[in-house]
Amino acid sequence: MAAPQCVLITGGAGYIGSHTVLQLLLGGYKTVVIDNFDNSSQVAINRVQELAGDHAVNLTFHKMDIRNKPALEKLFASTKFDAVMHFAGLKAVGESVQKPLMYYDNNVVGTLALLEVMDAHGCKKIVFSSSATVYGWPKEVPCTEEFPLSAANPYGRTKLMIEDIFRDIYASDSGWKIIMLRYFNPVGAHPSGHIGEDPLGTPNNLMPFVQQVAVGRLPALKVFGTNYSTKDGTGVRDYIHVADLANGHLAALRKLSDPQIGCEVYNLGTGKGTSVLEMVAAFEKMSGKKIPLIIAGRRPGDAEIVYASTEKAELELNWKAEYGIEEMCRDQWNWVNKNPYGYQTK
Ligand code: NAD
Ligand code: UDP
Repeated sequence: MAAPQCVLITGGAGYIGSHTVLQLLLGGYKTVVIDNFDNSSQVAINRVQELAGDHAVNLTFHKMDIRNKPALEKLFASTKFDAVMHFAGLKAVGESVQKPLMYYDNNVVGTLALLEVMDAHGCKKIVFSSSATVYGWPKEVPCTEEFPLSAANPYGRTKLMIEDIFRDIYASDSGWKIIMLRYFNPVGAHPSGHIGEDPLGTPNNLMPFVQQVAVGRLPALKVFGTNYSTKDGTGVRDYIHVADLANGHLAALRKLSDPQIGCEVYNLGTGKGTSVLEMVAAFEKMSGKKIPLIIAGRRPGDAEIVYASTEKAELELNWKAEYGIEEMCRDQWNWVNKNPYGYQTK
């Protein structure tokens, strides 16, 4: 029997990373996780280990910043990685407008350090966390991978820059195998309720905000805009269960073994658009909690309707999202009900 593949996961203590690490472990992979805990904690890693049971022996963790090249060098010198999954990065849009240098340094400079060390050690397979934000304000939906790209803020620009860097390194050296996954709106949690999203400070995204209202940490949800040209006037997005997203990463990893693969990009979404009010209604139904609403103005920079074309991922990755919004809300509620303060005790 072939030895299990060994995967380095940057940012593996974070929301999407932790769910993916668990799936990798259960899928029989060896995983090495690095994270600087900038937006996560050791508790997430401990919980993944608990959920992985006997497979937990295949998880190694190092507290490390991806910009620390000597530390990365040491890691690559001691371990042969078959592939890298690169989640590490800062992701708050508003903060990126306030602190652009911090975002360029962490996301872009961090990625360069990682790629340089990978290159030096002949590890040229990577799956990267891109985002639907690179579609800017799409003129039509569903968004296909061929749509024109633009960035509305420094966070989005870091994703676009990193995508361009990948396209450039592939053009210079076709030995690289690169898959960039453009996530739509990840929500939900592991069905056990033991791992989930734990944002620091007041959440910016819809469902983390809703979950804090549900447990009484915040008084009401502000609905940003009710006069869009959508079914009920509120913004429409493509929400995708984090478990589906995690499975999408395993599909991408398998695809990296395809001799035909070069540098490819895939949308990971459900292909369905859901409005803010529909999402709140689904959450209320699954949690039995009332979410008080305050009707507010549009949030500057927001797109009206964004949802994915899922054809390419279905066809080439043989992957399709399975969960609907009720399951996303059920699992999000289960997580927050069990962990009202996330990984903190209070
Ligand atoms: P997250 O903040 O929960 O996870 C990111 C992890 O990276 C955190 O654990 C953080 O501590 C770590 N990290 C950040 N900078 C680091 C550094 N310099 N060195 C080492 N570790 C570092 O975020 P997430 O939601 O899990 O997102 C993962 C990736 O997916 C990010 O790149 C994000 O931009 C991208 N993404 C997220 C969403 C979303 O809505 N959650 C949507 C599209 C794309
Ligand atoms: N939204 C909202 N109130 C909030 C946060 C978000 O009404 O407190 C809306 C937002 O205007 C958008 C949708 O919910 O229409 C999803 O927003 P999110 O920030 O989660 O994702 P993104 O806009 O980045 O896709």
